[in-house]
Amino acid sequence: MKINIYSITLKALLLLIISISMFIYYIFSETADERLTSLLMLSTIILSYYIYKSLKPLNDVEQSFNNLNEEISKKEAHLKDAQRIAKIGSWEYNLVTKTLSLSDEVYRTLGIKLSTNMEWEDFLNYIDDNDYNKVLAVLDDAIKYGSTFDLKYALKLKKNKKVYVQTSGKVRKKQDGSAKITAVSMDISSDIKNRQRIEELAYYDSLTGLANRLLLKDRIAKSIQHAKRDKENLALLFMDLDHFKLINDTLGHGVGDELLIYISRLLEKQVREADTISRFGGDEFIILLPNVKGINDAEIVAKKIQKALQQKHTIGSHQLYVTTSIGVSIYPEHADSIDDLITNADTAMYEAKKSGRNGYKIYSLSMAKCANRLLNLEQDLAEAIKNRNGIEIYYQAKIDATNNTISGAEALVRWNHQNRGLINPSDFIYIAESTGFMIELGYIIIEKTISHVNEFAKQGFKDLKVAINLSCRQFQDANLVTFISSMIKKHGVKPSQLEFEITESISMSNTDETLRILTELTSMGVSIAIDDFGTGYSSLLYLKKFPIKTIKIDRSFVMDMAADNSDRVITQTIVLMANSLNLSTVAEGVETQEQVDLLKDMGCNHLQGFLFSKPIPKNEFTKFLKNYIPNH
Ligand code: C2E
Ligand code: MG
Ligand code: MG
Repeated sequence: MKINIYSITLKALLLLIISISMFIYYIFSETADERLTSLLMLSTIILSYYIYKSLKPLNDVEQSFNNLNEEISKKEAHLKDAQRIAKIGSWEYNLVTKTLSLSDEVYRTLGIKLSTNMEWEDFLNYIDDNDYNKVLAVLDDAIKYGSTFDLKYALKLKKNKKVYVQTSGKVRKKQDGSAKITAVSMDISSDIKNRQRIEELAYYDSLTGLANRLLLKDRIAKSIQHAKRDKENLALLFMDLDHFKLINDTLGHGVGDELLIYISRLLEKQVREADTISRFGGDEFIILLPNVKGINDAEIVAKKIQKALQQKHTIGSHQLYVTTSIGVSIYPEHADSIDDLITNADTAMYEAKKSGRNGYKIYSLSMAKCANRLLNLEQDLAEAIKNRNGIEIYYQAKIDATNNTISGAEALVRWNHQNRGLINPSDFIYIAESTGFMIELGYIIIEKTISHVNEFAKQGFKDLKVAINLSCRQFQDANLVTFISSMIKKHGVKPSQLEFEITESISMSNTDETLRILTELTSMGVSIAIDDFGTGYSSLLYLKKFPIKTIKIDRSFVMDMAADNSDRVITQTIVLMANSLNLSTVAEGVETQEQVDLLKDMGCNHLQGFLFSKPIPKNEFTKFLKNYIPNH
């Protein structure tokens, strides 16, 4: 029952007013009846007043009882709010009556309605399978000894959702036989997730999810310990994607990132679970094989990876060919410390890059010397390009296979190093490409060659066609065409005297930019040749898509042609295909008369190789042009 204090006060006031009016009425009453009536009424009012007064303390008690009720409800609401905010729920299980009572927050954590009827077994069934036995064992102990318990475990909820809780409780057993488990459970999921995230950030690469340097080094350290104890070997495979920078620069970082993720998943399929794949940085991956019998095992994995990559890969809307260079180092044969093993695998990887990419190399001591040289070479090359110092162009003649006359020449760059003498392009072009000097170096080569073409013309060789090699890096230069055309004008040469050799590479298959540059070049009157045909992707698509006039058959086929039947068949096929596409052919690396005879039989149009001339400096080449007598 609820008593309203305001209504009581109002009634008391009314009684007082009526009493005063009755008193006035009594004073002014004229008859005895009237006086009696007013007296009766007045005494009734006074009586009522006393009854009211005696009831008042009772009302006050009820009033404070109501206040208390209100206070308790407020506190309860506050507690519920606090439980909800702190994600702490409480529960109690009566071990005798087998009744379970849960606070609202527990229902909320479990993601079920407040009214849900929950038995003890149902409640326990929410515990994740991995933690179930552990939790039950602890509870059993607490029940047995009437002790406290403290547990962390996961709950499995609907839709595979997992919630982590920390539960602290006590089992109370009384003399009267009653026994209860009382506990509070706190939802610590966000703590656990934060900790997992911190761990992930510390040990895993955020892009690919692979192990990072820190975790890799930790794993190598542990593997070294095991290998030392069990007298076993471990291998490191240092892998670097070929031309990755080119993909990033031409197709954008988004595609680059997608490719790295794609490669990571592909690598995971090539190795065993005990092996560690890590992203060491940029496009570098290191694979740790913790237990190998020897070099052979590591080689098998390297080959497997390169084979898996040997296909077209769909990255977003792009079709990409990707190759890698891999360097291998073995513990304890090549090094016994973490850093040395990594450095040596890196050195071997550089060697693989140097020998034409898309291959693997096993570390050897002689490579270490090269690696030290490389560091200085980078700086020296930057100086040489900046000062245009020591960059020289050599020329190698091309012979017309039908009449043995000189049909053209190829310009081949050399670097005349102040201390080391003449350095071949295979030892420094890749440095220029990877350090970003290639475009500048390309300008020097193009300008020098075009000025030499003018000199050859002045010497009487007006129609000598000279080929200039273009690195795929130069296709990133927006000024390439303008530069070439300005040099043609500056040195007054005929565009038809120039040819540009390009290699099959990823940039070719992926950018319309390449097609645009090649089309602009051909419309200027210069021609385009595909170099080293047969070693790259040998895609007929290039031949169809790009305005190509000439195919240069790679010297690896020509060299072994006489002894190796398959090389002979490949060369013949390339020549036949080129003929049917109306493309002219140049065979590179011709060293013997036998090769000349075979190539002529096949219908190859031009021959280039040491048999006719090695690449020689400009002045020597002018003499060669003047003194040449066709005799093959
Ligand atoms: P390439 O364009 O395929 O050049 C042909 C290479 O084969 C030259 O090597 C040449 O000396 C060599 N060669 C020619 N005939 C024979 C032969 O009968 N036997 C043997 N064993 N080798 C022969 P080089 O000059 O060392 O150039 C190597 C590569 O470096 C070139 O291959 C080309 O890819 C690149 N390169 C050369 N000069 C330039 C340049 O100016 N710019 C760019 N971007 N790359 C260049
Ligand atoms: Mg070439
Ligand atoms: Mg070539």
